[in-house]
Amino acid sequence: MNKEFNTHPHRRYNILTGEWVLVSPHRTKRPWQGKLEKVAEEKRPSYDADCFLCPGNVRANGEKNPDYKTPFTFRNDFSALLPEGPKGAVNEGLLKAESETGICRVVCFSPDHSLTLPLMQVPDIVRVIQKWKEEYEDIGSMEDINYVQIFENKGDLMGCSNPHPHGQIWSQLSVPVEVQKKSAHQKTYWKKNNRSLLGDYLKQELELKERLVLENEHFVALVPYWAVWPYETLIASKRHLQHIGQLNSEEEHAYAEILKKLTIKYDNLFQTSFPYSSGIHQSPTDGKNYPEWHFHMSFYPPLLRSKTVKKFMVGYEMFAGPQRDITAEQAAETLRDLPDVHYTEG
Ligand SMILES: [Zn+2]
Repeated sequence: MNKEFNTHPHRRYNILTGEWVLVSPHRTKRPWQGKLEKVAEEKRPSYDADCFLCPGNVRANGEKNPDYKTPFTFRNDFSALLPEGPKGAVNEGLLKAESETGICRVVCFSPDHSLTLPLMQVPDIVRVIQKWKEEYEDIGSMEDINYVQIFENKGDLMGCSNPHPHGQIWSQLSVPVEVQKKSAHQKTYWKKNNRSLLGDYLKQELELKERLVLENEHFVALVPYWAVWPYETLIASKRHLQHIGQLNSEEEHAYAEILKKLTIKYDNLFQTSFPYSSGIHQSPTDGKNYPEWHFHMSFYPPLLRSKTVKKFMVGYEMFAGPQRDITAEQAAETLRDLPDVHYTEG
């Protein structure tokens, strides 16, 4: 890498989306007099009688959760997408709209209200992955579902209203815009080289080792060269898989292990239950073939320099494009050097 870039402003290209990020490493020493976030760090009980997601409790819509022991899925009581609706379109002059349908589900990762992914045991995280697989295959096989978005919002800072360990699955008729961008860039590369874009990127990163955070036999976790969020990471399978449904049992285990280790490092970074949005990107489910697609998961955490200082995407970011201060290499080194044992269990 151009050594000057460690200390001077430059921009980096995201090979998956075709977008650029402005990197300003010289700014990391500026003093912070801005907003400090409140930190709620009470130790949670294993069961909370007021929680909508705990086993046996009654949810807002009056339905009762079963006494589940393993990951449990249900239809989101306040779904953003609905399976049925009037079909139609608007095409009037410059006004354009079309009907959208879909299904939103909630996945409770564990019956234990006090846990989070980094605190769960690997075999229990394997069960979460198997549930994601099952849902991807089940929902994805439906006629009017052409993309299945699996994600987790963790923490108040990410707008998560309930601390019970859970994620969501929103699936819909159209293929969402972030997925379309990644489809297009992977496809162009595939057509030209007949190889996976992300696969070739992983090879380069595994040689350079500058941005690696974790690696095992089947998965790599790294801070992508083009990361936007301060401690953004990407987990990708070494094998060229189009979607989660293709994971074999060894890969499920390796995925669970790297998920646990990465989220432990995140919690250890500022000794807090680290907030983030994470999501899986994979091939659409519209029945077509997507040989170019390479399954991966991204983590977008908002914290910047402590558990109370968050990065804001405002001003320049809103009007021009994303910007970051610490480089991807610095973030990777910090994460790599953190212990693999959770700070509350050390
Ligand atoms: Zn709960």
